Amino acid sequence: MSVVHVVDRFGGGERVGCPLQGRDVDVDECQGCPRLKEIDLGADVPYVACDPPMPRWWLPELAA
Ligand code: SF4
Repeated sequence: MSVVHVVDRFGGGERVGCPLQGRDVDVDECQGCPRLKEIDLGADVPYVACDPPMPRWWLPELAA
């Protein structure tokens, strides 16, 4: 399941809130990210879709 993040173009940039880094990043950083699933900067509402960080309780070694 991927999570969609709306691109913020305020101030002339293209930034998204990154769930992995816990801060805004330039969408250029997303291009090389292994979690990136989809990016559409031409959509009416531009977005980046990526895999969210895995919750710690989801890790098999911690589930036992
Ligand atoms: S694609 Fe990667 S860098 Fe971009 S928001 Fe998602 S996790 Fe962060």
